[in-house]
Parts: sequence; C-alpha cells; structure tokens
Amino acid sequence: MSKGSKAALSKESGVKEAPEKRSPARRKRGASRLWIVIPCYNEENVLPITSEQFLDELNDLIAKEKIAEDSRILFVNDGSKDSTWQIICDLAQQDPHFIGISQSRNRGHQNAVLAGLMEAKDKADITISIDCDGQDDIGAMEAMVDEYHNGSEVVYGVRSKRSTDSFFKRFTAESFYKLLNAMGAEVVFNHADYRLVSTRVLKEFAQFQEVNLFLRGLIPLVGFKSSSVYYERHERIAGESHYPLSKMLGLAFDGITSLSVRPIQLITTFGCFVAFISFIGIIWAIIDVIFGQTVPGWASMTCIICFFSGIQLISLGIIGNYIGKIYMEVKHRPRYIISERTWENDGDQTDI
Ligand code: UDP
Ligand code: MG
Repeated sequence: MSKGSKAALSKESGVKEAPEKRSPARRKRGASRLWIVIPCYNEENVLPITSEQFLDELNDLIAKEKIAEDSRILFVNDGSKDSTWQIICDLAQQDPHFIGISQSRNRGHQNAVLAGLMEAKDKADITISIDCDGQDDIGAMEAMVDEYHNGSEVVYGVRSKRSTDSFFKRFTAESFYKLLNAMGAEVVFNHADYRLVSTRVLKEFAQFQEVNLFLRGLIPLVGFKSSSVYYERHERIAGESHYPLSKMLGLAFDGITSLSVRPIQLITTFGCFVAFISFIGIIWAIIDVIFGQTVPGWASMTCIICFFSGIQLISLGIIGNYIGKIYMEVKHRPRYIISERTWENDGDQTDI
C-alpha cells in the first residue's frame, strides 16, 4: 500500500482555537500518543492481513517520530461469531502495540467505533478510526497526523475516487451524502468513519449522550479546527461487506432523523400545500353542484382517498420514527458494554 501517496490536503472552515490554550508539550513532534481504533465484526479472513499493514504504518510513524512509541492499535470486537476475538488476543500476545476490547454482543459498527473511542479518550492524545478491511488507504494516516501537528483537531479522511466500487454502490453512496445534506444533516461529502480526532475533541464529544449514533454527522457538530485528507478507496481485501442496501438505507434514515427535524418541517409545508389545493377543489366541486354538472365520480373519489391515505401513512410513519427515537433516548440504555480487554487477560491493567 502506498504510504500517503494519494493523500492531498485541503483546509475546511472551523472554529479557530486560541493559541495560548494549546499545550506546547502535546504538539511536540513524536510526543503524541496515537490509538488506531478498528471495529471488527466477523473479520477472521481480513484481520491477519490488515493487522500487519496497521502495524507497519504505526512503526513507520514511530520511526519518523511523528507519534509516541507507546501508541496502540485497538481492535474492537463487535460480538463476532467467528474466531475474530481469538485472532485479536493472539495479536496482543505477539506485539505490545496490539490491544483489543470485546463487546458483550454485536451492537453495530457505530457503537463499536464509539466503544473504542471512549476507551482511548483518557489514554491517548489522538485517535484514528478506520475499518479493518483495508478499503481505506492506511497510508493516508501520515498525512492525517501531519494535519494534526499543523493544528487541526479533527481530520476527515475523504474518498477522492470510488472507481473500485460498482456503479450501484457509488450511486447509492453519493446520493446518500447529497440526501443527508439536503435534509439538514451536515456531513462531509464522501467521508465515512476514517478520521483523526484529538482526545480534546473526544472529551467534548463524550457529552453527546444520544443512543441513536451517527458519528460522521455528530463529530462536525462538536466543532474545533478541522481539515481533510483525500485518498483512493480500495476493494475489500477479503470477506464480505456487512452493509447491504437495506442496512445502508437504514443508516441514511437514521442519519437524517437523528440529526435533523427537516422531514417534519417538510410534511408541514406539504400539508399546507395540500390543504390549499383541497380548498380550491372544494370550491370547484360546489360550483359544479350549483350548475348541476355533477357526475358519479367514483374513480376520482377513490383515487383521491387512496392518494391521501398513502400520504398520511407516510407522514405518520416519519413522525412515528421520531417518537421511536425519543423512546429509545429516554431509556438511556448503555451504548456499548465491554466484556473483555486483552490487557486484563494479562492481569496488567496499567501497562497499555
Ligand atoms: N462492523 C462492525 N459491526 C457490524 C458491522 C460491521 O464492527 O455490525 C465493522 C466491520 O468489521 C468493518 C467496518 O465495520 O471493519 C465496516 O463494515 P463493512 O466493511 O462491512 O462495510 P462497507 O465498507 O462495505 O460499507
Ligand atoms: Mg468495508
């Protein structure tokens, strides 16, 4: 994998941080402790290959004194049903840079990333979250760390091209970002969950207690100075995607409804428009009756009833979805539960 060769940089707007508030020690080259957070669900085919690549990249950054020697690669096992956790435990035995936590059951990609980030929050200076399948260019991490040293607290990994994706995947994915933005959820175009976040931002983010998680929409809400690093997306090294179209649509809907109330506003606007048309229709019908031009009109009545029943049901569904989300939020259930940590297996809870 080419080391950051395709990574290009561009600045984005962000709140400027007061320089005096910055700790000089933390910005010193080589002083930053990096934790790479990697969610894994049934990835036994991929992990042995990509774990090597992650370690190579980490060692390379350590050798270049861009990050601290005690940086870590944290695998988050998301309740895998195959030997993923066993592989993670073996890796942790082989090299002290590898560590792992295991969720008590499968809770989904977003919650797995969150679990890893919250674990890293108090132990690292910077975190990079990345999928474990090698699709995102591991070599772009160097450019991300450079951006951090240049003052960015959040660095978004953005896919410059999607040439390896099928037309369908590319079309649906790009429509997804456009739809999200049109609906008022601000997301960085073509950025998924490959990003560097400083623990300063993570500590603020920890106050966002919502259970309906959509990280790529929530992190920009935290603010702070941000920038982007561009890279080419590769094909999955092995195994299969866990995001079929149905899950992607679910994620898009979750993203919109957990970040924006625009669908409800649209329904209201549409309701007003329909009410206006109905009013004109009623006047027209009355005039027709007055002039005695009425016809049985069964077909038109049926069509109108069907049309509005449909619209009403869709509207009720959308509103119901928001109520469902409120229901889940008020329960305040834990968003992740960690059942095991590799360092606890060693009986050593401090040396990680
Ligand atoms: N993943 C997870 N929990 C899940 C599904 C996926 O932790 O329930 C992880 C998976 O192991 C991978 C990442 O999330 O590291 C992205 O999943 P995948 O590659 O299947 O999605 P795609 O890249 O096809 O959108
Ligand atoms: Mg993938």
